[in-house]
Amino acid sequence: MKIFKDKHTLQKEILKTKGISFVPTMGGLHKGHISLIKQSKKSKFKTLVSIFVNPKQFNKKSDFRSYPRSTKEDVKLLKKLKINYLYIPTFKDIYGFKPKNKVFLDKSSKKLCGKFRKGHFEGVLNVMNRFIEIIKPKYIYLGKKDYQQLYLIKKHIEKRKIKSKIIECKTIRERNGIACSSRNTNLNKNQRKIASDIFYYFNNLKKKIKKDFNLFKINNIKKDLINLGASKIDYFENYNIKNFRKIKKSNQKFNLFFAYYIKHTRLIDNI
Ligand code: AMP
Repeated sequence: MKIFKDKHTLQKEILKTKGISFVPTMGGLHKGHISLIKQSKKSKFKTLVSIFVNPKQFNKKSDFRSYPRSTKEDVKLLKKLKINYLYIPTFKDIYGFKPKNKVFLDKSSKKLCGKFRKGHFEGVLNVMNRFIEIIKPKYIYLGKKDYQQLYLIKKHIEKRKIKSKIIECKTIRERNGIACSSRNTNLNKNQRKIASDIFYYFNNLKKKIKKDFNLFKINNIKKDLINLGASKIDYFENYNIKNFRKIKKSNQKFNLFFAYYIKHTRLIDNI
């Protein structure tokens, strides 16, 4: 595994290859990331993983500062997984140039997380646009856990006629149902139990409203979530994942998207 901190040295190296399969991450690696990396390794191209905690996608400085970082352990794990390249850029390496493509932000960026984290998706698209320009990957592996992010990156790529192909990867969960996330390390045992109870609550709710949409009663659900131990609820909404339109009847295919806090930790998921 070769480690790069500077885009020019990285670009010189990848020019020699047939192409790159790219797995962007913010580090704090877990089973979700590992699953993306394993899928990438099956492609015919060399696997490049990036670790960059992108300050521009955090709407609160405190959240950026407390985001879990474990670079030493991550490097060890990536060596064991035998990836080809690891890119750990500095802020200047990513933001010290003007990209050719302008970011395209689809209107669905105003929904869900976009409504509650101002500037978040602008930050995500900004960094992805830059990574794409530096690496020019053949494939980009993204998790469905962050489905709205995946959808918006796909829209940007389509609109700007970029040749990279997005590979959508299924959500990996812990045994207790909760989606693996770097932020889970900020939860204690009791808080993990709350997150697990909330996951099963939404899982059952989805089954119920598939049969009878009238059971989707917002105020009752809010009360239930608070009783289960959520500290604050950002949203729980049903969307058609093909076009990001809100679902109002149960005869359409949908995912239930939710975001909430346990104390200061914000968790998101969709099922
Ligand atoms: P992050 O490091 O949180 O920015 O995530 C990097 C990539 O891993 C994104 O494409 C995420 O959607 C994906 N990812 C995060 N958690 C999971 C998970 N539990 N299952 C599958 N993919 C995930």
